[in-house]
Amino acid sequence: MMKKNILLLGILLFMMASGISQTNESDKVVLITLDGLRWQELFSGADPKLMANSEYVHDTLKLKKRFWRDSPEERRKALMPFFWSEVTRIGRLHGNRELGSKVDLTNSMWFSYPGYNEILTGTADDKRINSNDKINNPNTTILEIANKDSNYAGKVAAFASWDVFPYIVNESRSGVPVNAGFETAQGPKLTEREKFLNVLQPQIPSPWGSVRLDAFTHHYAMEYMKKSHPKFVYIAYGETDDFAHDGNYEAYLNSANNTDKFIEKLWNFVQADPFYKDRTTFIITTDHGRGTEPLETWRHHGAKIKDAGEVWIIAFGKQIQPVGESQKEEQLYSDQIAPTVLKLLGLSPENSDKSAKLLPIFRS
Ligand SMILES: [Zn+2]
Repeated sequence: MMKKNILLLGILLFMMASGISQTNESDKVVLITLDGLRWQELFSGADPKLMANSEYVHDTLKLKKRFWRDSPEERRKALMPFFWSEVTRIGRLHGNRELGSKVDLTNSMWFSYPGYNEILTGTADDKRINSNDKINNPNTTILEIANKDSNYAGKVAAFASWDVFPYIVNESRSGVPVNAGFETAQGPKLTEREKFLNVLQPQIPSPWGSVRLDAFTHHYAMEYMKKSHPKFVYIAYGETDDFAHDGNYEAYLNSANNTDKFIEKLWNFVQADPFYKDRTTFIITTDHGRGTEPLETWRHHGAKIKDAGEVWIIAFGKQIQPVGESQKEEQLYSDQIAPTVLKLLGLSPENSDKSAKLLPIFRS
């Protein structure tokens, strides 16, 4: 009798333990976007025509010293050192059209809301998503799908520099907390850093009316990850696009360089934190490209700007097969990101018949 009870207790404990470990070991995803960063700078570094142009650069000599190198490989490493040292070793970078690797949007708008809608829902919706207006997204994002799953409910969060994101994610319907624009950190247990960020944000004014400086977005996200350990985090940096619209190439490059450092910090944190370490995958992309010819179209994007639908995708972490810079002829699309992220999380798209193909980036 005694033996039998101990055996049953043993089985029960084993079941409990395996159940618990299953939940803890579920995969984590960090999805990141850099608004309107061109593949041209990502893969070739600073553009020689733009960096020497005093119309777009205040101090051309200083900028040259910082980001000019003789080869595109050296230039991109000077601009985004984390991507081109660590990520190229542990992950994969798609979209260098010079090598035949192409990534494109499937929406035909080539500006932000349609781009983010495509990335986050897996389907372009040109009929309904055709402006940047603050309209609640009628489509369901992968953040919302995850937040409705018992394994991820309350463990999904978004941080964004642009104040339209609460609408893109449909915060009110999805229940996914979105800290965006000039919102401060809220909640009963704010960390000292969050309190300080809340004080600083209005004291360091952004140059723009609807986009905050990325440092705030970044540190709010980091603090939240340390404190609450969300399993699926979306971080949308915005500066690159706004500096480009302003025609400030110097600030655009500095911002790209800075965001590379932010992502390095995030990855180092993740790999040092027992909850995330070796269980987390990063996916990084952009919502649209920008023009190249004529030269001044680098500032712009949208359907009338040639090639502004050309984008890029980076992936690294637990489930990603590392290949470095993709060197082969291929055609990938931004609508493949959403089903791929769901697969990383062990979830399925709402309508899997209509879903785009997974990105071919998984570890075999
Ligand atoms: Zn823009």
